[in-house]
Amino acid sequence: MNETVKLHDKEFEVFIAKEEIESINKELADTINKDYKGKYPIVLSILNGSFIFAADLVRYFDFPMKIEFVRYSSYEGTESTGRIKQILGLKSNIEGRDLLIVEDIVDTGFTLSKALAELKSHGPASVKVVSLLLKPDALQHEIPIDYVGKEIPNDFVVGYGLDYDELGRDLPAIYKLKA
Ligand code: 5GP
Repeated sequence: MNETVKLHDKEFEVFIAKEEIESINKELADTINKDYKGKYPIVLSILNGSFIFAADLVRYFDFPMKIEFVRYSSYEGTESTGRIKQILGLKSNIEGRDLLIVEDIVDTGFTLSKALAELKSHGPASVKVVSLLLKPDALQHEIPIDYVGKEIPNDFVVGYGLDYDELGRDLPAIYKLKA
């Protein structure tokens, strides 16, 4: 594993090694497996960032599930007014279903709070959220995050699904901007 990588004009250094990510995922799955015992939820991966995390996490789950994907984008220039657009829609009817949302990272919480409101309007039986990373100091929205892999400082991170201007999603570890 490279200790540092260069993406576009910036240098990044290893922040969370591949092995640590793996043990975080196992621990999350242990807890989630207990909570979903006997259930048949819809696991909803929020693209693009969570595709690798979701793929790894579901392989530790031991309950039956349906796996779905949605993609949201912020309306250009109106983020502060709080609108998001669903650009890849939900294929399933989630009414009456248990929904487990899989996020890569929660920063201000804006995206997730809007996604939660939109998804709840379809009448699921329950909604829970698992996020691999959370930046508690950046959080501006009151949102319940039921399962958090790791809390991190307000650093910009890439790798393991997260990009810097489209590069770096394929990196097996998580990197942060080099000081
Ligand atoms: P929020 O709406 O919570 O402020 O931000 C959520 C989205 O912003 C995440 O799903 C992710 O796509 C992006 N994001 C937030 N922080 C980071 C970061 O440190 N690195 C990268 N690559 N994306 C981030």
